Amino acid sequence: MAASGLRLPPLPTIREIIKLFKLQAVKQLSQNFLLDLRLTDKIVRKAGNLTNAYVYEVGPGPGGITRSILSANVAELLVVEKDTRFIPGLQMLSDAAPGKLKIVHGDVLTFKIEKSFPESLKRPWQDDPPNVHIIGNLPFSVSTPLIIQWLENISNRNGPFAYGRTQMTLTFQKEVAERLVATTGSKQRSRLSVMAQYLCSVKHIFTIPGKAFVPKPKVDVGVVHFMPLIQPKIEQPFKLVEKVVQNAFQFRRKYCHRGLSMLFPEARRLESTARLLQLADIDPTLRPTQLSILHFRSLCDIYRKMCDEDPQLFGYNFREELKQKKDKSQAKEKEGSYGLE
Ligand code: SAM
Repeated sequence: MAASGLRLPPLPTIREIIKLFKLQAVKQLSQNFLLDLRLTDKIVRKAGNLTNAYVYEVGPGPGGITRSILSANVAELLVVEKDTRFIPGLQMLSDAAPGKLKIVHGDVLTFKIEKSFPESLKRPWQDDPPNVHIIGNLPFSVSTPLIIQWLENISNRNGPFAYGRTQMTLTFQKEVAERLVATTGSKQRSRLSVMAQYLCSVKHIFTIPGKAFVPKPKVDVGVVHFMPLIQPKIEQPFKLVEKVVQNAFQFRRKYCHRGLSMLFPEARRLESTARLLQLADIDPTLRPTQLSILHFRSLCDIYRKMCDEDPQLFGYNFREELKQKKDKSQAKEKEGSYGLE
């Protein structure tokens, strides 16, 4: 059953559209299609109330989710699809819903949605979310970098979040969906959990078995809903939070001081790490997975102070230091061997 609202005129089924336009999935591009309209309706229902909404669908492919969105009484649906083969099928949907569907042949990683919907939709950050939604079932290789990009946009309140706290309903490999919502102390707790949860309320709303897709992927798929928080739980620049979190999880099975110590140059690693942990009031023997968002908040605040005291610190990268050391010792070895000749 369609979600509600606009009744599309009789159209070929998605399976027929795939046949009609010869839209075989390209395996290398991880194209797995959802043909069951009950499932696409469910994704759209879970995205929230779409009445009069402006919806941005990423990677519509043959248009299953697209149909469900159009049936939900939206004001406008803008789709961005990279593969030209899908454009004629989408055009057929556009003809069936005059004035509702805008099709862009482009790449979601570079497309600027903030210029596409009316300015009047913009809401102050503290207000209720704007009537703008992002929905999509993308290849997993695109959805993970894209969510990182969008989390940074949330932190900076730009990109799709220039409209305010735009909600997103996206699919991920189930394992990634579990990481996105993993709580402190759980096995799946990871960088992604902290980065998503300090900026958003994140819900893994349901799982779609792999067998529901054509062709069937090797894994099940998690549908995840993101609502940006009015007040981020960590109030530091995204890149700084990313650096602290990335270092903390560097050695996920070791005590957290081990990974965090890599934030500091070798010559003063021990004392700086001790200072960071002491001022942040964190037990150095906690594992990275046991650190809560509040722990990360303290770590980021203290690390920020340390960076303000020493402007070189933020640019420090332990891999570069290692590489320089290696290059130096190789040069020395060479010198030595020439000396023997
Ligand atoms: N949403 C459709 C569905 O659920 O049946 C198609 C899903 S398929 C997993 C992913 C779709 O995203 C494909 O149509 C693919 O061509 C498109 N796509 C992949 N990378 C993209 C990108 N960077 N920008 C826009 N579309 C992309």
